[in-house]
Amino acid sequence: MRRLSLLLALVALVLNLASAFAADEIGNLGVKTALRHMALDISQVETADLSKFKEDKNMSYWCELDNDFFISYESGKMPRIPAQAIVKKSALIDNKMSEPMLAIKRGMDSPLDEFAEDIKVIYESGAHVIFQAPPSVLNQIAKKESNHFKLESLRQNIRAAVNERHIYIPEIKSAETVSVDLNRIKSYIKTFENYKTRYSYSQGYLDAANFAVEEFKKLGFEAKLVEYLDGGKKQYNVVAQKKSPAAEKNEGFYVVGGHLDAMSPNPSIEAPGADDNASGSAGAMEVANIISKYPFAHKVRFVLFAGEELGLRGSKAYVSQLKASGEITKVLGMVNLDMIGFDKTAPISSLWQTRQTYDSFVSNFLAVAKESGKLKITMSYNVWGSDHVSFINAGAPAFLFIEDEYGANPHYHKTTDHLENLNPEMLHEFVRVVAQGLVNILSAGAEAKK
Ligand SMILES: [Zn+2]
Repeated sequence: MRRLSLLLALVALVLNLASAFAADEIGNLGVKTALRHMALDISQVETADLSKFKEDKNMSYWCELDNDFFISYESGKMPRIPAQAIVKKSALIDNKMSEPMLAIKRGMDSPLDEFAEDIKVIYESGAHVIFQAPPSVLNQIAKKESNHFKLESLRQNIRAAVNERHIYIPEIKSAETVSVDLNRIKSYIKTFENYKTRYSYSQGYLDAANFAVEEFKKLGFEAKLVEYLDGGKKQYNVVAQKKSPAAEKNEGFYVVGGHLDAMSPNPSIEAPGADDNASGSAGAMEVANIISKYPFAHKVRFVLFAGEELGLRGSKAYVSQLKASGEITKVLGMVNLDMIGFDKTAPISSLWQTRQTYDSFVSNFLAVAKESGKLKITMSYNVWGSDHVSFINAGAPAFLFIEDEYGANPHYHKTTDHLENLNPEMLHEFVRVVAQGLVNILSAGAEAKK
């Protein structure tokens, strides 16, 4: 019953929008400079048709947002909309306001909220908002940019969120399957939480970092705190790797990392950061547990960063050190685990964020995820917001592997970010994908050399 009325309401809405669109369009013919935007539902559009659509000369710009597609064009010069696409919204762009901007946020709070009365929201879905603002307001909003809130001009055609249907994922059969110890992941997270705060400058952070060093050592890794200076203050990343055989000293290696520091409204006192990011730190440590048993274990370096919440400071400093030592050219690929435990609605959703040029590296891991089919996969080619950015900026292949519903996590950067709010199945699968991906890559490498 409810379904039927919902369906009728939807049909009415679509008809309504379509007719409103036609009338509006005619009404604005002749206004040469007027731009129109349109939000389309592309869930039924084939990849080839979508690619062709993107090339339409009448399109001023477009933005891919999972099953939605946001476009802009000169009024009266409508691009050829694919037959399977459904128009969800269409209107003229307000030419007294800024060009439409894409805002992406972490957590439920958005810096846009305080400007709600001044801005005009055109599109909203999860972590993404497309809006216009008076130029002076846009300037103020731009000042709020951080590694948790990002503004993008739409002029560059952004693939902000790409549905699994539109990305190439190789089909594989993993040879030797890894086994993940979920209880160990949970106990690492609990231990990290119990330091009360892992705010970068706190004793809790240092204690947590030392705990991680000792755990890596137990697995046979050479592990240490690596110092850097943050405005004169000493800060420490955790770095762990097994000793290479002399013959392989100059060979490349992979990096698995995540930030160990945490944030809250009162970070020097309490910042448990279970999801953000004890989950990723514990995940990296579980990957180390798995990899440590293989003969190629020395080809993976584990790094837990300080200062991510303060602006990727730990990873920036670490990458500078890699550049200074010349080691940056040996980084074959970097996996950044940041927030791998929160999921609001099933199925478990994952977001993969990288540059398209690194697709071949990322596809090793995508293939493992596809093999089990437990994750809903969304790809983003809009790189921002976490420690992989430091590596990508230095030319090293890297990707962020993160929960896709971070925009709906009510505990983000709160003192309520505890293990109880995390999804165990999700933790397990994220860690499995990373460990299995590395085993697949490194086993293949060993074989090729024989
Ligand atoms: Zn984080």
